[in-house]
Amino acid sequence: NAVPADAKNLRVKLVLLGDSGVGKSCIVLRFVRGQFDATSKVTVGASFLSQTIALQDSTTVKFEIWDTAGQERYSALAPLYYRGAGVAVIVYDITSPESFKKAQYWVKELQKHGSPDIVMALVGNKADLHEKREVPTDDGMELAEKNGMFFIETSAKTADNINQLFEEIGKRLPRPPP
Ligand code: GDP
Ligand code: MG
Repeated sequence: NAVPADAKNLRVKLVLLGDSGVGKSCIVLRFVRGQFDATSKVTVGASFLSQTIALQDSTTVKFEIWDTAGQERYSALAPLYYRGAGVAVIVYDITSPESFKKAQYWVKELQKHGSPDIVMALVGNKADLHEKREVPTDDGMELAEKNGMFFIETSAKTADNINQLFEEIGKRLPRPPP
């Protein structure tokens, strides 16, 4: 849940969910460090990174980002991971229908067990691989619309739409009462 540090400074726990290999860690590294490492292997040990952005209305948002070390394979651990999260980013790979199915599973899971005011975003990553695309943009849009989620296609490789993703999430966070 968004913790109001004060009216203009928000702090929020953000978790990433989705199949292994869809690019969750790469999205985080692109956002936080501006880097992309095509050779990176599975993260060893859970990682925690934070990044603060300023929105146009001069609100700042500090994202406390929890990235998994491949525990996404063990769905049973997920509730521990997303407990207390104000933001859930569900990621799939536009070249993998399998990963899109898994995204649908996560949407349902969070609706059942996530905190009721959680902000959810649906992300179709690897948008640079357009020649290998197997999940139409419309399918992502439709899933997001049905579930009141924000939707965007990104590329951690080219940086396309990565900052936009986090800005749009920031805009949708509940603001503390004045
Ligand atoms: P995670 O298991 O979801 O954390 O996935 P990773 O971030 O470890 O990425 C898995 C693989 O996909 C790596 O080989 C990355 O180089 C590759 N990858 C991640 N994002 C992109 C992207 O936007 N475009 C392309 N072409 N490859 C990507
Ligand atoms: Mg990872």
